[in-house]
Order: sequence, then structure tokens, then C-alpha cells
Amino acid sequence: MKEYCYDCNQMRKFIPVSREEEVNVRGELIAGTLDYLRCPVCGLEYITSHDTDPGIHAIYDEYRRRKGLPGPDEVRALREGMGLTQEEFVARAGLHPDSLRRYENGALIRDLDATIVKDLCLSIEVMH
Ligand SMILES: [Zn+2]
Repeated sequence: MKEYCYDCNQMRKFIPVSREEEVNVRGELIAGTLDYLRCPVCGLEYITSHDTDPGIHAIYDEYRRRKGLPGPDEVRALREGMGLTQEEFVARAGLHPDSLRRYENGALIRDLDATIVKDLCLSIEVMH
């Protein structure tokens, strides 16, 4: 795929490369495979977008497993289980609307927001 190389100052046909790496996620080192694009001439590498990189999602999954944080599917299932739209859920939970959208799309949940979501989970389990 052709990208603009800022070292060569011209368009280059970048080569996709994958590499095993340890990524620092909020102080936790987690190993995973990350995808890069490399300029064949100067060797400059771009990381591919985190939002679309399956490697970073696997790393986030491992971090959530270690920390007991809810993942995108759990957050969505909780909200849908309450019969709430995203707007209704953020109003009830006190989350930022953009945060909820990002969490449901795979972003790593903030610790504080995870606590809010877990408390909501518990309060629902108590009601049932
Ligand atoms: Zn280059």
C-alpha cells in the first residue's frame, strides 16, 4: 500500500510487517503481536491504527482479564440487559457519551468507569 514517507519525503510502497512486542498498558507489560508498515527504502515504520489492529485488541483483552475489567461485549450486554439506549445508559451511569461509545467499540475502559459499570451490574443482580 502506498503511503507518504516523511523521511524520504515521497510516496513509497510500504511493506506490512508483524512483530512480537511487549506493550506497556497502564504499567502492565503485555506481550502481543503488532502490525507495522515499513518503508522499504529508509526503514521508517508506522504503527497501523490501534483501532483496527487485532494485535492491540488481543493485548487489551489480556489486560482486562488480568484486571477483571469488563470488555466491549460485556458493557454492551449490560446496557442492553437494562433495556437502555446508549444515551439513557450514560445518563444513569454518569459516564461521558463518547466514553461509552468507545468502550463498546473496543477501547480500554478507565478504572473509574469500570467501577461504575461493575456497581451497576451488581445493583441489577441484586434486583433480580
Ligand atoms: Zn522512507
